[in-house]
Amino acid sequence: MIIIGAGPIAIEMAQSFCRLGTKVDVVQRSGQILSKEDKDMADIVMDVLKNEGITFHMNSGLAGVKDLGAEKEVLIKTQDGSTESLKAEQILVALGRQVNVKDLGLEGISLDFDKKGIKVDNRMRTNHKHIYAAGDITGAYQFTHAAGYEGGVALSNAILHLPKKADYTYLPWATFTDPELASIGMNEKRAREAGIEYSVWTEEFKANDRSLAEGEEIGKIKMILDRKGKPVGIQILGPQAGELLGEWVAVLNGGVKLSTLASAVHPYPTLGEINKRVVGNYFSGKIFSEKVKKTLKFFFHFKGRACK
Ligand SMILES: Cc1cc2nc3c(=O)[nH]c(=O)nc-3n(C[C@H](O)[C@H](O)[C@H](O)COP(=O)(O)OP(=O)(O)OC[C@H]3O[C@@H](n4cnc5c(N)ncnc54)[C@H](O)[C@@H]3O)c2cc1C
Repeated sequence: MIIIGAGPIAIEMAQSFCRLGTKVDVVQRSGQILSKEDKDMADIVMDVLKNEGITFHMNSGLAGVKDLGAEKEVLIKTQDGSTESLKAEQILVALGRQVNVKDLGLEGISLDFDKKGIKVDNRMRTNHKHIYAAGDITGAYQFTHAAGYEGGVALSNAILHLPKKADYTYLPWATFTDPELASIGMNEKRAREAGIEYSVWTEEFKANDRSLAEGEEIGKIKMILDRKGKPVGIQILGPQAGELLGEWVAVLNGGVKLSTLASAVHPYPTLGEINKRVVGNYFSGKIFSEKVKKTLKFFFHFKGRACK
C-alpha cells in the first residue's frame, strides 16, 4: 500500500496496515510527519514506524498516478528533482478531509460557507443567527471531541439561551500510534508562532518504573512554560499518552498550580508519575539553585552532594 500524506490518519493507518502484514510506503511532501507536532516528537514516531518496516519518502511531491491493472503506480518527485516510481496494490489518499455541504440547499438561503466549511462565530452561529453549525462541517478542529464541545456550545446558546463561546486554547488531541502522541495547548512550534518566550521541561519514559516494567522505553513528556513559569502546553509521546493527558486537561482548564501537582502524591508504580516528575524537574532547578545552596551552606554547613 502507498499512503499519500503523513498526518495523523495516514500515520495511524500506516502502522495498522504494517502490523497486519502489508508492506507500506508513505509519501510526504515536507520533511516531517505529523506536521502540526514538534519535530523531535514526530521524528521519534517516524523512527518507531521505520523500525517496524514502513518506508518513508520524505520531501517528495506527487508527480502522477497510473492504474496499471493489477497494480497502481505512484510517481513521486524527490528533493533532488528526480522522479521515482512506486508500485502497490492499493493507494490510500490521506491528505485531509473536505466538508460536504452538497444538497443541503445552503445557497438557497444565502448561508455563508466556502470550501473550508460553514462560517460560524464563537457561539457557533452562522450568518443567520437562528441557524447554528458544529463539528467537522465548520472546518475548524476535525475531532469527535471538538464536535461534541461545539454541539454543547450551540445547545447552550440556541436552547438554553446561556451565552457561551467556544474556546480552543486547551483543546487536546492524540494520534493513536503505538506509542501514542498526545498534545494540549502550545507546543514549541505554536509558542514560536505566537511569539512567546518559553522554556521546555522534559522527562523520559525510560526513567518511569511502570513504563520499564511494561517493556516501554520510548518517549517523553514535554512541558512548555511561559516566561512566568505558567504551563501553556504539554506533549506526551509514550504508552497511554492520551490517558496521561487527562491530568493536564484538568490542570490547564482548572488553573491548577504546578506546585499543587508537584506536591500531590501519585501512586507508585504508575505511568502517571511522569506528570509529577516533569514538574519536579522544573522545581528542582529552583530548589537547588546556587543561591539556595549558598544559604544552606551558610546556615547548616551543608556539604552534601547537592552542594557540588
Ligand atoms: C480515519 C479517521 C480517523 C479518525 N480518528 C479520530 C480520532 O481518533 N479522534 C477524533 O477525535 N476524531 C477522529 N476522526 C475525526 C472524527 O471522525 C470527526 O471529527 C467527527 O466524526 C466529526 O463529527 P461530526 O458530527 O461533525 O461529523 P460526522 O461524524 O461526519 O457526522 C455527520 C453526520 O451527518 C450525516 N449527514 C451528512 N449529510 C447529511 C444530510 N444532508 N442530511 C442528514 N444527515 C447528513 C452523515 O451521514 C453523518 O452521520 C477521525 C476521522 C477519520 C476519517
